[in-house]
Amino acid sequence: MIDTKEKLKAHLTLTASEEAFDYQDTTTLALKIPEHFMSLIDPDDPADPLRVQVVPQVDEHTSEQGVGLDPQAEVDYTKTERLIHRYPSRAAFLTTDVCAIHCRHCFRRRFTASDQGPASSQQIERAAQYVAEHREITELLFTGGDVLTISDHRLEAMIRAFREKRPDLVIRICTRIPAADPKRITAALVAMIRRFDTAPFYLMTQFNHSRELTGEAVEAVARFVDGGIPAMNQTVLLKGVNDDVETLVNLCNSLVFNRIKPYYLFQGDLVEGTAHLRVPIKRGLELEAALRQRLSGLAMPTYAVDLPQGGGKVPLINQYLSSEVEEGVWEFKTCDGETRRYLDPPTRR
Ligand SMILES: *Cc1c(COP(=O)(O)O)cnc(C)c1O
Ligand code: SF4
Repeated sequence: MIDTKEKLKAHLTLTASEEAFDYQDTTTLALKIPEHFMSLIDPDDPADPLRVQVVPQVDEHTSEQGVGLDPQAEVDYTKTERLIHRYPSRAAFLTTDVCAIHCRHCFRRRFTASDQGPASSQQIERAAQYVAEHREITELLFTGGDVLTISDHRLEAMIRAFREKRPDLVIRICTRIPAADPKRITAALVAMIRRFDTAPFYLMTQFNHSRELTGEAVEAVARFVDGGIPAMNQTVLLKGVNDDVETLVNLCNSLVFNRIKPYYLFQGDLVEGTAHLRVPIKRGLELEAALRQRLSGLAMPTYAVDLPQGGGKVPLINQYLSSEVEEGVWEFKTCDGETRRYLDPPTRR
């Protein structure tokens, strides 16, 4: 585990910007890089896309107008401690604030690494009770922090508490562990989860670059998929990491090849200290258009933004329908920029 400037310097020669970051500042997310992830970083490339995600830069200390620590206003949607109910059909449970890796783009900085640890049995019980009383919730996200930093034993109790009250609840396991520390995903862990077989689980990974899909990572995800737990990936669009067409095409195709469905490509959230990692939406839309030309439907993620002040997620998709030129006559732009018309069925008299 690399968690001090001294340990970091044993692996990498710091750039001026990395050197100038205040590693003692307790108001920003602390440095935390697991050995596995560090081993993937090329020490000779100061712009390595994996390095950019985990080595802090001085820009993190810059504050921006109108940007805070809770862009999604999650605090307003917190129904019981750690349970966020923002959308009618699904809720998110902050299982723990602990992560195996600290991503410099983390959007839940208000909570991540806040020294609270895994949810207490009381917090779990109250959240489970809420979910029991809100039958409109069909899916529960186990998020955080990173749920797979919790021991198998505690995780088992957590799953049981929710599934006892709601055997029909689909549970999403949201985790960066396959990229950060794939050895954590043991056969015993997956076997334990599979025993709760009254409703499906989904594994929601976060891979931001194809180089994170190592043999070990792929093996970790395969344990879930072979066990009947489908895998979906959420990528964060990040400057200097994956903001070019080739990188995203490689990532998405590698995901599909390893039985992981690219689900979302997220625009960076408006979180303090992350401006230097955000990509302008105009560029994001260009990338989205290029991906739609290059990728299969299966490999294509939905580019989306989680709007500030709790506005929720909306897709960012280029317009292909240009106009209804006359009644029932629709004009489209094709992915290649040509024009086509589609006619509604003739009205019956
Ligand atoms: C993203 C998110 C969800 C899940 O949204 P999907 O579009 O279904 O993936 C649920 N709750 C919260 C609070 C979220 O931020
Ligand atoms: S693993 Fe997730 S919650 Fe943890 S630091 Fe990274 S983005 Fe944030």
